[in-house]
Amino acid sequence: MRKKFIGAIAAVLSLSVCLSIVGCAGNSGNEEGDVPKLEIGSAELTDSPAWIEKAVSIPEYDKIDSMLFENGQSDYAIVIAADAAANTYTAASELNYFISLASGVSFSMLEADSATWSESAHYISIGDNAVSKAAGVTVPETLNSHGFVVRTVGESLFLQGATSTGDIFAVYDLLSKVLGYEYYMDDEIAIAEADSLACPDFDYTDEPDIEYRSTQIGYQNGLVSTRYKTVSAKFMAPEGVSTWHNSLQYIPYNVYGTQYPEWFATDLQGLCLTAHGDTAKYEKLVQTVGDKMRTVISNNPDGDTIAFTHMDVGTWCTCADCTDLKTKYGTDSASMIIFMNDVVDYVETWREETYPDRDNIRYLFFAYTATVQAPVKEENGTIVPIDEDVKFHDKLGVIYAPISSDFFHGKNEPQNSSYLKQMQEWHALAGENMYYWFYQSYFYNYFLFYNNFDSMQDNYRAAVDNGAVWMYDQSQYNNAASTGFQMLKVYLSSKLMWNVDADVSALTQNFFDRYFKAASDTMYELFTGMRLNNLWMSESLGVSGWIGTRINTSEYFKLNTLLEWEALIEQAYEDIEPLKTSDPDAYQKVYDRINLESLSVRYLLIDLYGTQIYTTQELYDLKQQFKQDCADLNITRLSEGELITVLWSQWGI
Ligand SMILES: [Zn+2]
Repeated sequence: MRKKFIGAIAAVLSLSVCLSIVGCAGNSGNEEGDVPKLEIGSAELTDSPAWIEKAVSIPEYDKIDSMLFENGQSDYAIVIAADAAANTYTAASELNYFISLASGVSFSMLEADSATWSESAHYISIGDNAVSKAAGVTVPETLNSHGFVVRTVGESLFLQGATSTGDIFAVYDLLSKVLGYEYYMDDEIAIAEADSLACPDFDYTDEPDIEYRSTQIGYQNGLVSTRYKTVSAKFMAPEGVSTWHNSLQYIPYNVYGTQYPEWFATDLQGLCLTAHGDTAKYEKLVQTVGDKMRTVISNNPDGDTIAFTHMDVGTWCTCADCTDLKTKYGTDSASMIIFMNDVVDYVETWREETYPDRDNIRYLFFAYTATVQAPVKEENGTIVPIDEDVKFHDKLGVIYAPISSDFFHGKNEPQNSSYLKQMQEWHALAGENMYYWFYQSYFYNYFLFYNNFDSMQDNYRAAVDNGAVWMYDQSQYNNAASTGFQMLKVYLSSKLMWNVDADVSALTQNFFDRYFKAASDTMYELFTGMRLNNLWMSESLGVSGWIGTRINTSEYFKLNTLLEWEALIEQAYEDIEPLKTSDPDAYQKVYDRINLESLSVRYLLIDLYGTQIYTTQELYDLKQQFKQDCADLNITRLSEGELITVLWSQWGI
């Protein structure tokens, strides 16, 4: 419900911003922001939602002698180009939305062509436009596409991204620096309350350590994802073709199987990328895949990434030619690289003629299962391709997805030494075109706590050290809500993908304080207990931190441990008891959050010890309560492949 509320407001704001721009078009030479105020948006926003946390103070920052707003009034206008990208409009509406939440003020909107630049003008310019050009504001070419500049010139402020996506991130960064803005989740946002705010004296740039950061769980969508600053590359795929595991969708057997049986792997679970050694048919396969990519590029003028990836199987073609290649290079990835190099050549030759400006398109394949190993050798201590044939085309990139590795531990730890080596080897081939697909959940059971909290930072650093341009740290993407401290995971993950050196302890503590409020310490104790239990399994019992390890047994979760955790949950409810009368809305919100985390503890108690420690009636009631809570909290799945109803069948309820 609250999610919808934000979405609705933002939509209204975007609309009103557009309307204002249209309305402003005739106001040429208007430099003092003498334009109609936002009507719909500002009227809606003077009442801040009760859940906005305003108990943060305005941070210290350098200021100029001019007020962005004073006593609830402002003569500053947001300036954007009339033909600005949708992202730039979003940036403007986000700025006004959060400024309104903090102060009740919203800035008027001005079209850049109607604005006259001078040192004394009061503008907040967003994105590239006539005013930013007149003021001489530029974005360094070294910044990646999500980077931005925040700069004060005269009495105006300039927020400018390397692309329009960066415009939005410039706004969030400004808000954090002048109003202590912090986004924890859609109903937990901190921002200082302010009647007046001085214009900052800023001149800085920032960019994410990982240029493209994908969402991790189902909860992140639309504006939620934008506010976590998780914005992926713009993937393109043909009509009806998935983004991932799509080779047999590009080349379906039922369409091509009769005419080109050589195109298909011996077990028909994928393609034969050597066409069984038939040169003419190989060329035809390259062209057929390449032609589909050409069409995709034409149909997606904003797209920048195409993933041509093998199916989600562990097998590969075992025809004589594929076997020869595997013998020669020691890995099936060689056939994929050779094929992709030819496809990229074929598509890029056309692309350079047809769309010379679209130089940013990248073509990807999976280093996953059969192809996880890179075809490299060492020469004088340097990793190099085995030969010229497996040297990457400069537009070719790889999605390295080490699904078998241990994500309890960092890639720099002994458990993962072979995976770190793989990362280095792929990095040597792909350079800066490294796309990382990591994992942070037990996909066979969404109720189990998966501890990658102690490895996340090291893993992301290792990725950045090895050419990361994109990261997807896969979690419960298809569950509408998740237990096991997944909300913290999403928060930390999005923070660290932007800045791999962020202070994890401070972020975690801050998150607990905001999210669990009076129950912060108690819930932190539960969180620590769960981490320690995972660590004990790993260090003392030798249990692998692989996401497929079956850990839901009484060997790994002792009854007394679970009962201690249950007691902590009860304590947490007691901790927030005073809120019940002082702030019933906040009480309900935090109650739900504790309840969400209780699910993984209650699941294990019921599943592992239910028949031993409860009477039949008690067990039945506990299961029913668990089911009700899952419904209330929007838990929709038992596992990646099973709906929650499967659990109700298992439990006989
Ligand atoms: Zn083959």
